[in-house]
Amino acid sequence: MRLYSTKSRGQYTDLKEAVLRGLPPDNGLYMPERIPALPEHILRNLRQLPFADIAFEVTRNLLQGAIPDPDLRKIIEEAVNFPAPLVQLDEDKYVLELFHGPSLAFKDFGARFMAQLMSYFNRGEAQELVILVATSGDTGGAVAAGFYQTPGTRVVILYPSGKVSALQEKQLTTLGHNITALEVDGTFDDCQAMVKKAFLDEELTGRIRLTSANSINISRLIPQSFYYFEAYKQLPKGSDAVFCVPSGNFGNLTAGLLAQRMGLPVRHFVAATNINDVVPAYLETGEYRPRPSRRTLSNAMDVGNPSNFARMKDLYHDLEERSTWNKMRASITGYAYDDEQTKAGLQEVYERYGYVIDPHGAVGYLALKEHQLANPGTKGVVLETAHPAKFLPDVEAALGQQIEVPQRLARLADQPKEAVGLPADFNRFKDWLLASLG
Ligand SMILES: *Cc1c(COP(=O)(O)O)cnc(C)c1O
Repeated sequence: MRLYSTKSRGQYTDLKEAVLRGLPPDNGLYMPERIPALPEHILRNLRQLPFADIAFEVTRNLLQGAIPDPDLRKIIEEAVNFPAPLVQLDEDKYVLELFHGPSLAFKDFGARFMAQLMSYFNRGEAQELVILVATSGDTGGAVAAGFYQTPGTRVVILYPSGKVSALQEKQLTTLGHNITALEVDGTFDDCQAMVKKAFLDEELTGRIRLTSANSINISRLIPQSFYYFEAYKQLPKGSDAVFCVPSGNFGNLTAGLLAQRMGLPVRHFVAATNINDVVPAYLETGEYRPRPSRRTLSNAMDVGNPSNFARMKDLYHDLEERSTWNKMRASITGYAYDDEQTKAGLQEVYERYGYVIDPHGAVGYLALKEHQLANPGTKGVVLETAHPAKFLPDVEAALGQQIEVPQRLARLADQPKEAVGLPADFNRFKDWLLASLG
């Protein structure tokens, strides 16, 4: 398997380099050179295949021998060890629950697979691989859980003190083992600046094998295509499938496009956003206008310049801007909703179907409903990207009642927090890294 950067098509690197580097030196995004269709017999027999087998076949097909089959089997077994069930709402609407992993959000799929690949590519190295992450909340939790006890890896998470939710903090600070949380007396931007500086510091990079768990690492994208196949297999035979994806950085939707390229018969994609609607606006007008993000109820989608938009454009690449736009909007339609509408959507899903959806899923539900009104006869799948209990106060306020909290989340509240306090000062951070890991 070879990969190129969206900024320099025609120059290639291998999977190991793409995974360990995360970002190409030219600041583009890595893309697979070829996205081969799955063998016909696999596509025909999806229904007979367990989720892990589907994941194995998809990866094997994309990696084209980059990892030998027996090793890949083991990686998949470790990475894909929780289900993605499809729940039916009514005759033409379904919810794909992607929150059955350790951090209760779909990012668990990407984080676990990335951890396995990084561990695999670091095997045989004398030094452990140190993953540095700055988090404003959710990503850190998924990365921590994903790398937890993964051989040869160590994770250092920087988070801004007092600026992540109590639950998110517990997800970062209660695991122990190879996961260390640094509680920084500063903002998320301070944390991010400290991490960036560490990668540029020659003394640090000379003594510690540093890498990042960047959200645009190709190893996070690949596993997100698995559950599109898994969802399709659970739909009635011969369904005209429409996937509706609540989106922020558009990694999840891009993974759906990969699945489609690999032969999954998807009729159409719906891109659902909150008022941070740069991509729906682009699909409507052909103009891409990034702008600062605004805070909403579905805050994991508060993104003003979606990082994977470059990959989406690359997949529909054409010599003419206008043809790229036309091709993209033939397969994806965008819809955007504000917080009032999101709350009403959450209420509607509960009243009509007795289903508790989270604010991100509620945005998706609204978009699917609007799309199906204009395009009847399809089977629509909303990707439910997180468990509603992760957004407990907002969900309970919208529904006017208490909701059930899964045990694994409730249990966190009683675990003792362990974090190293640090000022927002790069030199102190560097000293800590050298003393603890160097
Ligand atoms: C990250 C996240 C999203 C947005 O996913 P993208 O791949 O960035 O579009 C949506 N919902 C939840 C709950 C998330 O954590």
